[in-house]
Amino acid sequence: APAKPSAATGSAPHDAGSPAHAPGSPSASERIKTLVILGASGDLTGRLLLPGVGRLIASGRAPGITLVGAGSDNWTAEQWQERLAGSFADALAPGGDSTPEGIKALEAVQSNSSYHQLNVTAKGELGAFLATVEGPVALYFALPPAISQKACEVLKKKELPAGTRLVMEKPFGSSAASAHALNATLGKLVAEDHIHRVDHFLGKSTVLNIMGLRFANRLLEPLWNGEHIEKVEIVFDEDLTLENRARYYDHAGAGKDMIQSHLLQIMAIMAMEPPATLGQEDVRSSIAAVLRCSTIGNSYKPDLADATRRARYTAGTIGERQVPNYVDEEGVDPANDTETLAEVEVYVNNWRWAGVPFILRSGKALGRGRKEAVVTYKPVPHLPAGFTGVDSPTRLHIGFGPETLTLDLDVNGPGDLFTLDRVQLETALASDPLLPYGEVLEGVLSGDPLLSVRGDTAEDCWRIVEPAFAAWKAGSVPMEEYAAGSNGPSGWATSND
Ligand code: NDP
Repeated sequence: APAKPSAATGSAPHDAGSPAHAPGSPSASERIKTLVILGASGDLTGRLLLPGVGRLIASGRAPGITLVGAGSDNWTAEQWQERLAGSFADALAPGGDSTPEGIKALEAVQSNSSYHQLNVTAKGELGAFLATVEGPVALYFALPPAISQKACEVLKKKELPAGTRLVMEKPFGSSAASAHALNATLGKLVAEDHIHRVDHFLGKSTVLNIMGLRFANRLLEPLWNGEHIEKVEIVFDEDLTLENRARYYDHAGAGKDMIQSHLLQIMAIMAMEPPATLGQEDVRSSIAAVLRCSTIGNSYKPDLADATRRARYTAGTIGERQVPNYVDEEGVDPANDTETLAEVEVYVNNWRWAGVPFILRSGKALGRGRKEAVVTYKPVPHLPAGFTGVDSPTRLHIGFGPETLTLDLDVNGPGDLFTLDRVQLETALASDPLLPYGEVLEGVLSGDPLLSVRGDTAEDCWRIVEPAFAAWKAGSVPMEEYAAGSNGPSGWATSND
């Protein structure tokens, strides 16, 4: 039987005696020795990054790592240890997914970890600090985007230990042109496959679940095209509101926060051609090819007022919570005209998908959290006269939290043989006990950029959304309203009923 590809490298396992790693995949000597978090006192580091680091180490999947925090504040060693203890509490708690060896390893990493005061935008300061740590190093830029950019501009290639990996947070640039310029800056420092542009929605389980479903089932892939599929919806509706992040969100809105990045990435995995292997080069090339031919609207729907919608929440109730008007939330400037719910119709202009809308929708303060991709099939071309009860199309739902798969079918259920009944076949899909940031970091530390956004793709995602954002800014697409806790405005292509 042919050798099965390995999920980690995407290449066939080697014979005994051959190198432990596949050609083109990272070697063991490239494994990161030191993880440096720049922005160690920040919100992302405390809420998401360090808990992810904790889970990863405690699961035994990050052997031999040293963790260093850096920030502009003059933190004491005690302050840093306090932050680590708080962030690692879950991973260190008995009864979780941590192994006893993993817990020991995490305790050792914590007690060895140090904090350094650094101004990363001052010439030579970061470089001089890097000379004191063991390489290869992963430099995680958990900094405001403008600071990350400045820090990279003042860094010199010769200041980076061999094998350095740069980890960039979203947003990556603020337009196709600025993403291009940032790519050029990073390209002067390290090779493209040493740059990790984080999109934590590209967790290993999400990506592999979609690819496994599509490419391992004869039943699905031959029908996975515009001949048989009417539309694909990718929805990420949250019942959360601003969570004290107005400073960021009021400039981003639903379009930049979710659609420009996360939802386009998921769309690309839903729409891409089968990659030759699960290796980073093949998978990321398939993703890039799909995005390269995607546009919001198409020649049949060129008007962005038809192909996009935006809305903002007004006062309402979510569960027990009273939510004020978005514009009255602390830190919000009404002049920013920020949308809290958006929907765009993307068209993948190739043979497989011409004319099929991929409807991407995301928003906050909705009555029901809904995180799924829904594939709606076209009706059957003919149903013999006599059957009744067929009023909904075949649908496939891929849930992103919890990870589930549901197939809606019409079958001759119990009762009248001529009446078709709706049934739902449902199963749980694989999910990784690592938090999304643990999955991201595992790729960084092991030197596998599979789950990172490639530079050309980062630029293309801006190119796709820019016309819509320009139309919104010009006021060509009306700002609708919905009460917090409702299901959003009516009449949209997607609903949250
Ligand atoms: P914060 O403002 O909370 O933290 C920023 C950090 O950067 C602070 O630790 C700050 O240190 C440090 N910093 C600022 N200027 C300098 C400097 N010149 N030299 C060294 N350190 C500096 O931001 P977030 O943590 O929210 O965001 C960080 C990044 O992560 C952003 O790109 C954001 O878009 C992204 N992100 C954030 C998410 C979140 O939920 N927070 C989610 C997804 C992405 P000090 O306070 O000491 O100045």
